[in-house]
This record gives sequence, structure tokens and C-alpha cells, in this order.
Amino acid sequence: MLLVTCPVCNATGDETDFHFGGQAHVARPATTDPVNITDQQQRDYLFIRHNPKGLHFERLRCDRGCGKWFHAARDTVTLEFKAFYGITELPPADVMAQAKGPWADYFKSRLKKSI
Ligand SMILES: [Zn+2]
Repeated sequence: MLLVTCPVCNATGDETDFHFGGQAHVARPATTDPVNITDQQQRDYLFIRHNPKGLHFERLRCDRGCGKWFHAARDTVTLEFKAFYGITELPPADVMAQAKGPWADYFKSRLKKSI
């Protein structure tokens, strides 16, 4: 059983009390520049996802409490949740520092933009 705590309403429950929404932080090219997106960009948006062994970032919806979507950082090996954070937020800095592979690149580019 995985214990999940909603960062919006603090409702706590197991994984069946929350709706899994797939990978977090997926860029949606059609909403930012619909005229100039390429077939490859659209394919990547629809089908290409990270599948790491280790830290991964996912979307969850709070079905037990507020019904809001939020993000979770979870280790796919130990199934331990490292953090829960808002849908428009980045993970805590200590969790981002643990990210590897494509996630490390993603957060590195986001941190440069926010500085
Ligand atoms: Zn909630």
C-alpha cells in the first residue's frame, strides 16, 4: 500500500484514493505555439514518456478530498514518495537535486529560467 497525502487539502489515503494521471511536467506544444509545431513535437507530447529506474515525477488527483490535481515525486524502485507539490510548482530543491537522466536536464533548464 502506498500512502499519499494531498498537498492541497492534506487528505491522506492509499493509492486507490487518488487517480493516477501519468507523467508530470509534460510540455504541451499545441497550447504555446499551435501553428509552428512539428510532427515530431506532437508525437513526443502524445507518446514519449520517461521510464526511469529511480526518481520519477507523476500527476495524481485527490479523489478522496478536494479533487485537485497535484504532483508527486516517487522512487520507482522503493515506491517511496519523496515529495508532494502543487500542479504549477517545481519539486523541492533537494528532490530536484536527486533527479537523474532526462529529469535532471528538465529541472536544470527550468531553474535557469526562474533565476
Ligand atoms: Zn486534496
